[in-house]
Amino acid sequence: MLTADDLAFDRQHIWHPYTSMIDPLPCYPVVTADRCTLTLADGTQLTEGMSSWWAAIHGYNHPRLNQAMVRQISHMSHVMFGGITHPAAVSLCRKLVDMSPEGLDKVFLADSGSVAVEVAMKMAIQYYSGDTRPRRKFLTIRQGYHGDTFAAMSVCDPENSMHALWKGYLPEHMFVAAPATGFDHPWQEEDIAEMQQMLAAHHQQLAAVILEPIVQGAGGMRFYHPNYLRRVRQLCDQFGVLLIADEIATGFGRTGRLFACQHAEISPDIMCLGKGLTGGTMTLSATLATSAVAEKISNSPAGCFMHGPTFMGNPLACAVACESLSILAEGHWQRQVKEIEQLLTEQLQPLKDCPRVADVRVLGAIGVIECHHPVRMAEIQQFFVSQGVWIRPFGRLIYLMPPYIIRPEELSRLTTAISLAVRQDNLFAMPD
Ligand code: PMP
Repeated sequence: MLTADDLAFDRQHIWHPYTSMIDPLPCYPVVTADRCTLTLADGTQLTEGMSSWWAAIHGYNHPRLNQAMVRQISHMSHVMFGGITHPAAVSLCRKLVDMSPEGLDKVFLADSGSVAVEVAMKMAIQYYSGDTRPRRKFLTIRQGYHGDTFAAMSVCDPENSMHALWKGYLPEHMFVAAPATGFDHPWQEEDIAEMQQMLAAHHQQLAAVILEPIVQGAGGMRFYHPNYLRRVRQLCDQFGVLLIADEIATGFGRTGRLFACQHAEISPDIMCLGKGLTGGTMTLSATLATSAVAEKISNSPAGCFMHGPTFMGNPLACAVACESLSILAEGHWQRQVKEIEQLLTEQLQPLKDCPRVADVRVLGAIGVIECHHPVRMAEIQQFFVSQGVWIRPFGRLIYLMPPYIIRPEELSRLTTAISLAVRQDNLFAMPD
């Protein structure tokens, strides 16, 4: 239980994400999470629209995920990975190699999404480290998001992640405009022109192109055309530059395919996974690479890949990830995601007629309402809680990515709350 005193302590002493320590936004005390429901300390129940930032794909308190953790605890919750291996890591990596796009058969386990991106970028740099001209630059697309650590930030959208704030600390990389052709719009070949020019001009300096395949998440919730990704793959091959796909948000079924790369039928050279990997129960990420990448790194001057976090391959996290992947392998997610996509389309598309709404986009189990004006965070959060839903917008975007097991009536509760919210002036920052 949480007392008023606990909440006052939280306000005074505990940092929350992107929140002021002198004027913090309100924090809602959650005491239990079950299936698609969060319960607050006062008993209020909220239907979950965010899957805890894309992670809780099977919902909360899943008996099979819980059992997997309990079983693993009785063997060992942790053991170092240097010079040691264990059944949970081997089973997990076997599954990852089997299910991931063709050719990705070497797995590096790390702690979080951002670290998986750091690992991928280090791999790309080490890959070229023995060449006569080592390569240290990355090319990416604007409106991307790859995490909050320094290397990851350096390839995030320069404005969203405020590169100006970190000038002098952040390595400077290359950016092209975000793809303009929407996922299901007619493909425009000129969309790839800038990427092609940049690769032609700078490929000898470029270690890799890094991007979020198909769905740009936290940088703008944009869905782009599979041909863009297909063309990037061709260009990377043509110019001899590695392709890193950050599937941390999109992986494990969220976009309607197991991995978003499959919309374009491509395999990257390096792929980052996280978030849904453990069904949202524990922090764990994986960076997968092709044998060619792993072998060249191992033949480079260092002789091995230079990374090794303390909690690498944490058995508890690996065991629960294994069970999460077993649930996915049973295949129900495909029907669930399709049904969510249909319902989101039916219930959100009509909001296009609302004057406040600039665009409505749905792909797989992701629904996005882009508004003309930014939301007032504290007010809209409170409004959603009063409607019995947990939805956390940012900027001009109100979006849903519910657990795959959500029931139609729960999903309707989420979409109804959004349709009420976009009709209320006081929930948006209007220009004077
Ligand atoms: N890449 C993408 C595409 C993400 O969406 C995120 C998290 N939102 C990250 C990387 C970073 O993951 P983490 O927050 O686990 O460090």
